[in-house]
Amino acid sequence: MQELRYAVIGAGPSGLAAARALAKAGIDFDGFEASHGVGGLWDIENPRSTMYQSAHLISSRTTTEFTEFPMDSTADYPGHRSLLRYFRDFADRFGLTGRFRFDTRVTSLEKDENGWMLRAEGPAESIAQRYDGVILANGTLAEPNVPSFRGEFSGELLHTSAYKDAGRLSGKRVLIIGAGNSGCDIAVDAVHHAASVDMSVRRGYYFVPRYLFGRPSDTLNQGRPLPARIKQFVDTRVLRAFTGDPVRFGFPRPDYKLYESHPIVNTMILNHLGQGDLSVRPDIDRFDGATVHFRDGTSGEYDLVLLATGYTLDYPFVDRAELNWRGSAPDLFLHVFPPSFNGLYVMGMIEASGIGWQGRYEQAELIAEYLAAVAQHPDGAADFRRRVAEEPWPDLTGGYRYLALARMAYYVNKDAYRRAVRSARSFLRGGAAAQAPGRESRLGRRPASALGRSRKRTSA
Ligand SMILES: Cc1cc2nc3c(=O)[nH]c(=O)nc-3n(C[C@H](O)[C@H](O)[C@H](O)COP(=O)(O)OP(=O)(O)OC[C@H]3O[C@@H](n4cnc5c(N)ncnc54)[C@H](O)[C@@H]3O)c2cc1C
Repeated sequence: MQELRYAVIGAGPSGLAAARALAKAGIDFDGFEASHGVGGLWDIENPRSTMYQSAHLISSRTTTEFTEFPMDSTADYPGHRSLLRYFRDFADRFGLTGRFRFDTRVTSLEKDENGWMLRAEGPAESIAQRYDGVILANGTLAEPNVPSFRGEFSGELLHTSAYKDAGRLSGKRVLIIGAGNSGCDIAVDAVHHAASVDMSVRRGYYFVPRYLFGRPSDTLNQGRPLPARIKQFVDTRVLRAFTGDPVRFGFPRPDYKLYESHPIVNTMILNHLGQGDLSVRPDIDRFDGATVHFRDGTSGEYDLVLLATGYTLDYPFVDRAELNWRGSAPDLFLHVFPPSFNGLYVMGMIEASGIGWQGRYEQAELIAEYLAAVAQHPDGAADFRRRVAEEPWPDLTGGYRYLALARMAYYVNKDAYRRAVRSARSFLRGGAAAQAPGRESRLGRRPASALGRSRKRTSA
């Protein structure tokens, strides 16, 4: 059996998942983490963390935690401090903490005939080390997406990535641009501190309550997934019954169906709108000093504009061609494997409602399974690569027509995704079912071009 050695970049939930799966499979690796400890963005002291003081889980505890390591908490939506403790405990419990070099930032990955040359800057020294493969788990929510606007704003312009607590907003006239989950959380913070709060939105949203029928809403309907059309039909009516019509509160009517974009798990924003604590404004037309002009011809004066405009994917230490970038995201088999199978593996580049850290752990198990096959059954690994090259890739949309937005480029349906990962693992294990046509364990039927992108609608 070949002695191969791998690197893992990042000790957030995805990097820890990778480390755990590799360690469990007996695969040798070194971990590199730019911050002082594990936990990724859940460690608010991590310089790259985009966490803020009031942040709690958006998905509920039981649908998010690693299955083999339940959280020591009874809270349904624990706060970021509990989650950092959870990741530290997870890393200690499975002996992973000592496998990472902390305060060590990977600066470049270069391919050569023997694998990958990894260079990093540590606290006391520069590192140059060759690896047979590298797992990239450096996070997807760190690099701010900052759109350009016409005109100049003379007040303070802040992206959510730099927002830590509402003290920053005290006494200010605040405009929040974007109503994603972070934008809505921060708006709820802001109403208690700011002089006034407006929220500028381009499109309508669906607002899901944290609790439905007395239970965390994402724990309902956990059995066999309903077909997309039926789930949209049923859940749209349930939401209408519980939260009413957001148009009443000033939001535009969504020009897409429920689950075609990430829903907002926050109904406190609607309460505050109902109380008159904030107002919804249309899309921005231009800035002019302290004045912001909106598309409908109205305007407002602000001291601070908060850009809740999301994040862009960023793998700054490696040539984009190696990750097969297409538009705003790498185009990878199951969002993990570059089609060239060049020895890079991407962890955590999935966004989905309810995939949790267990979904990320299942990605890690797939990578570990593949690396074990490379070492122990090279023919099986070669067969896997051949099937990925020759067969159509699975449809990961679950039948939902996701909006054609940059942030949706790596969005998946959790059930379709987990099924496809299971199927790939089953193929690697070479089970009889893996070869049977029409079985779940086939790699998939749909053409690669249909991997969500071609099915996504164009939207402004
Ligand atoms: C406010 C907020 C709420 C959220 N709520 C939920 C939720 O309820 N449920 C859910 O599933 N997800 C949620 N998320 C998404 C969150 O991204 C994931 O939970 C998870 O943190 C992703 O883990 P990760 O390891 O992929 O990335 P990260 O947590 O971002 O970790 C990446 C790590 O890589 C390190 N790193 C980066 N570059 C380098 C480098 N060059 N060299 C070495 N190390 C490097 C970073 O320091 C960091 O520690 C939330 C995110 C935010 C911001």
